[in-house]
Amino acid sequence: MIQQFDALVLGGGAAGLMCAVEAGKRGRRVAVIERAERAGKKILISGGGRCNFTNVHCRPENFLSENPHFAKSALARYTPFDFIALVEKHRIAYHEKTLGQLFCDRSARDITDMLESECHDAGVRLFLKTSVQEVSKTTDFVVRATELEFRAPVLVIATGGRSIPKMGATGLGYDLARQFGLAIREPRPALVPFVFNAEDRSGYCDLAGVSADVAVSVGNQQFREKMLITHRGLSGPAILQISSYWEPAQAVAIDLAPSRDVTSLLREPNTPRSVTAMKNALHKILPSRFANRWLDLHPAASWTNSGLAELEHSMHQWTVFPAGTEGFAKAEVTAGGVDTNELSAKTMESRKVSGLFFIGEVVDVTGHLGGFNFQWAWASGACAGRAL
Ligand SMILES: Cc1cc2nc3c(=O)[nH]c(=O)nc-3n(C[C@H](O)[C@H](O)[C@H](O)COP(=O)(O)OP(=O)(O)OC[C@H]3O[C@@H](n4cnc5c(N)ncnc54)[C@H](O)[C@@H]3O)c2cc1C
Repeated sequence: MIQQFDALVLGGGAAGLMCAVEAGKRGRRVAVIERAERAGKKILISGGGRCNFTNVHCRPENFLSENPHFAKSALARYTPFDFIALVEKHRIAYHEKTLGQLFCDRSARDITDMLESECHDAGVRLFLKTSVQEVSKTTDFVVRATELEFRAPVLVIATGGRSIPKMGATGLGYDLARQFGLAIREPRPALVPFVFNAEDRSGYCDLAGVSADVAVSVGNQQFREKMLITHRGLSGPAILQISSYWEPAQAVAIDLAPSRDVTSLLREPNTPRSVTAMKNALHKILPSRFANRWLDLHPAASWTNSGLAELEHSMHQWTVFPAGTEGFAKAEVTAGGVDTNELSAKTMESRKVSGLFFIGEVVDVTGHLGGFNFQWAWASGACAGRAL
């Protein structure tokens, strides 16, 4: 059976639903084609089930892309406050957790309900359990899916990245970009835990569950947040953030005592200098099990002033060489994607293929942890939807 629409949106996630709502409100006949049995499945599991739906401090600097300027236009034209207005219109209770991150008070379900209700009011048709099999272009775009064929002059690709294949992530968006001759920046896991090398694994993994406030750096990029030791390596917000900037074989520098002088006490006159005194000093900053272990594995060369200075330095510059990351299976997002040079920054339309749009995570724009990835999905989705 052939279904004719004004616009087809492939993928009923955050970006696809927002785009469909905006286009529907402008009178377009829109179909959202989603392979899962319900829309917005990632929204439901996001933010620990409460969906960190935006960040009030959202700025272009919170995003990675080969072209750091690309996201500016969309982010300026659909801001966190536009999304907050929508949330408030639907009387969804929310709160700010830390660092401008907004979460639902009740459940992420409030956000999917809101988007579904907006789709309904805008006349958007949602085709669930409908997996795209083939896309072609004659005068219209033709999408062949399970038992149905859709046609429209406009096609929006909102199929997300490769992260969490267990939840149905596919590489469809990248395949379609290639099919239509658009360049791709190699997709890679981001916001993802590190796996220790063998030596660090045997040194620390029995401490799984221990966390500490640290400052983690790769190159010039630094994040000061919590780090967590896992059964296989390192995780926690500081590690997830820096993982997006990490390249294989690169060193990760971890400051275990940011802005603190750990050895100052030992340098005072008439203070004993010993392993016990050092451990006591570090217990004030790190969980004691981790402090003891770290000092066991990094013993002071001597208790002279220069020995203490060396130890102080190494506590602020613990250098870890991860064996790798936990990969797409555990990555919260996919960095890389459709090259932004291929798209209009205002509308997300392909410069080469008129009527073809890419939005959300499939595009080479990746947010920091903290609500920025949803803000990109809403902003890129809204900008495309208003242009259809
Ligand atoms: C565990 C977890 C927690 C997260 N928490 C947060 C958070 O709190 N805040 C935040 O900002 N970001 C968070 N993110 C990131 C955020 O979920 C994504 O950046 C965002 O969902 C991207 O939106 P999207 O619409 O581009 O892609 P998606 O939400 O991934 O939607 C893509 C849709 O396309 C569908 N699809 C794929 N292939 C096909 C096909 N062949 N045919 C039909 N449909 C298809 C998929 O089923 C999916 O519904 C989290 C991610 C994960 C994995």
